[in-house]
Amino acid sequence: MSGKIQAIRGMHDILPDQTPCWRHVEKIIIDVLNRYGYQEIRFPIVEKTELFARSIGELTDIVSKEMYTFVDRNNEQLTLRPEGTAGCVRAGLENGLLHNQIQKLWYIGPMFRHERPQKGRQRQFHQIWFEAFGLGGPDIDAEMIMMCTRMWQELELTNISLQLNTLGTLQTRNRYQKVLIEYFSSHRDRLDEDSKQRLQNNPLRILDSKNPAMRELIAAAPLIHDYLDAESEDHFVELKAMLDDVNIAYNINPHLVRGLDYYGKTVFEWITDRLGAQGTICAGGRYDMLVEYFGGKPTPAIGCAMGLERLIELLQVSGYTLDNDPPHVYFILADDTATRAGLKLAESLRKALPYLRLLMNCGGGNFKTQFKRADKSGALLAIVLGDDELKNQAVGIKSLRDESEQETVSWAGLADVLRQKLAGYLNLP
Ligand code: ATP
Ligand code: MG
Repeated sequence: MSGKIQAIRGMHDILPDQTPCWRHVEKIIIDVLNRYGYQEIRFPIVEKTELFARSIGELTDIVSKEMYTFVDRNNEQLTLRPEGTAGCVRAGLENGLLHNQIQKLWYIGPMFRHERPQKGRQRQFHQIWFEAFGLGGPDIDAEMIMMCTRMWQELELTNISLQLNTLGTLQTRNRYQKVLIEYFSSHRDRLDEDSKQRLQNNPLRILDSKNPAMRELIAAAPLIHDYLDAESEDHFVELKAMLDDVNIAYNINPHLVRGLDYYGKTVFEWITDRLGAQGTICAGGRYDMLVEYFGGKPTPAIGCAMGLERLIELLQVSGYTLDNDPPHVYFILADDTATRAGLKLAESLRKALPYLRLLMNCGGGNFKTQFKRADKSGALLAIVLGDDELKNQAVGIKSLRDESEQETVSWAGLADVLRQKLAGYLNLP
């Protein structure tokens, strides 16, 4: 085979000029999660296809069109996870984490969906999820939304608003579904192909249609809020009151339903108008029946997923940039003998100054070449081990930021001198 092999369409490399921003976002979010008592769980990226087919629902876009499914060498049908909750619940059940317990879990990683790639929509994308099991009341719903708000604050993101809805209990949904089917059936001629399909399979999802031609019909559809049973109504009223108490603004969006079938009661989305069409950066809701559906004891649950690509894009369009940390010190070496001594000296410096970012010159080169590399690295200081210095167990230190003279310092005193010099440049201990 000849020619360059390219990445799979819709799957992107995240390069070193981007990773600092990713780590910044991940660090802040994970820190907030820890402070709210969420613990990390890790589970495989590949699961049996059946797991997703059963939980997400055969008739959803994800299962019917978007999954990366393959047969392995043992003829097992496997799938790269398109979402996290199914695997998390599987792992929780299999390891006895869910029965009669409260668990607050988070995880992070790539998800895979064979969608049409476009801005804000990849085939491999990354999400941070958090899920709370064993709590059925609106307090945890409110706390999860408050936790998201804290994340936005600590990421210094504005232009994000909250959309809120309830899908009610199963009884409510069944009642409402009947009314919806009647309504849309009586306007069948105005439904697009997608919606005709959904009318059969999942009528609630017609409300989610992004087709402008359907807008008017959907706007006039009956509202779930007129069909809530007492339990659904109480939960929703209580949640809104809790959000009001802490001044979290929300827009009730009666057409907000989730792409996945297992949601009920609270659903929410965080959206921004700064990313164009793909403006949802975080979405979640309550899924009280899923654990039981997987064979566990009835366990209420709520969860939420953040799309990291969109979050990072939002940070960047908001003007945030972050560079990789340049080295503090570049180590210039006369020859092989100096390199042997330099490797040892560098290790002792790294031990003495754990925060030190020290870049050794590897691969030889004359002094001129090495000084060029030192400048290019962005280092503050160069230390130089030439023939004379080697004889005297010393190094030369030269600032790469001004024209001050090179000084000579003994190996024994070097760590102290570096500590002092760097403290002048940086806020270091
Ligand atoms: P959409 O309506 O945009 O397709 P969804 O309902 O499929 O969203 P979820 O499964 O709820 O999305 O995923 C939660 C979040 O993950 C989304 O709000 C978005 O930020 C992000 N996300 C989902 N799919 C993709 C994708 N293909 N590429 C990038 N980010 C995605
Ligand atoms: Mg989708």
